[in-house]
Amino acid sequence: MTYSSLCIGVRNTLRGRGISGAELEARLIVCAAAGIDADTYYRCLGQTVPDRTMNRCEELLGRRLSGEPVAYITGKWEFFGLELIVDRRVLIPRIDTEILAEEAIRLAAPGVRILDMCCGSGCVGIAAAVNLPGSRAVLADISREALSVAGENIALLGLEDKVSTALADSLGEYDPSLGKFDMIVCNPPYIRTDEAPRLDASVKDYEPGIALFGGADGLDHYRSICSNWTGALFPGGYILFECGAGQARSVEQIMRENGLKVKSTVKDTSGVERVAVGQK
Ligand code: GLN
Repeated sequence: MTYSSLCIGVRNTLRGRGISGAELEARLIVCAAAGIDADTYYRCLGQTVPDRTMNRCEELLGRRLSGEPVAYITGKWEFFGLELIVDRRVLIPRIDTEILAEEAIRLAAPGVRILDMCCGSGCVGIAAAVNLPGSRAVLADISREALSVAGENIALLGLEDKVSTALADSLGEYDPSLGKFDMIVCNPPYIRTDEAPRLDASVKDYEPGIALFGGADGLDHYRSICSNWTGALFPGGYILFECGAGQARSVEQIMRENGLKVKSTVKDTSGVERVAVGQK
């Protein structure tokens, strides 16, 4: 069997299960099974697939059909044009979160110092740092496991001279040893606890709960960061939050209650107010 026909077979199986994006997922699974990148795959389309790749592909497809997200199967995911390492220790970066990174890049002054709170894979802070010459970023998270992944991504992209990791609790107090920043970017866990039963199984059963849930109303981290962590900002510094659908007004209210100026909100491609921007 050729790579091309293997890929079509995998695609058809995924489609048959109603998986959207079956075409892309099929290619990612075949590439992961063969241990090749997309460029190599397109050059090998007509070649015969070795038996061990066929077996590996069947195994990976089985995991996908049991509900595991393709990003955890391949161990990588693209965010803001960067290929990042992801696994079950971190949330899979979402396309909507690119808007948070984009807004951070737009607002940043030269030499900006960024604190990425609840960094997970590090996707937001890393995307900003890569696109802002002269910038520095600290990627902070309460999860040591997430910080290991963020550290692997820093090394993968050779960013050791401008990006570092730090253990920090967004529900706790600001740790002054982290220094001061011009900007905090944060995509906190914001799902309401009572929404858990309605979540897709690929999220609920695979992604880390600590990265998903933000308390009874989903707003615990916004409240704590706005009251405990603004000491990390220089006067005039920006704070940029990703918000869940329908949360932007509440997040703005929390910013105001904590003496922050509400600057703007930015909509995602579906028209949801996704990013709320405040200023100290
Ligand atoms: N900052 C990471 C992301 O945007 C992780 C967010 C989280 O763990 N809530 O994907």
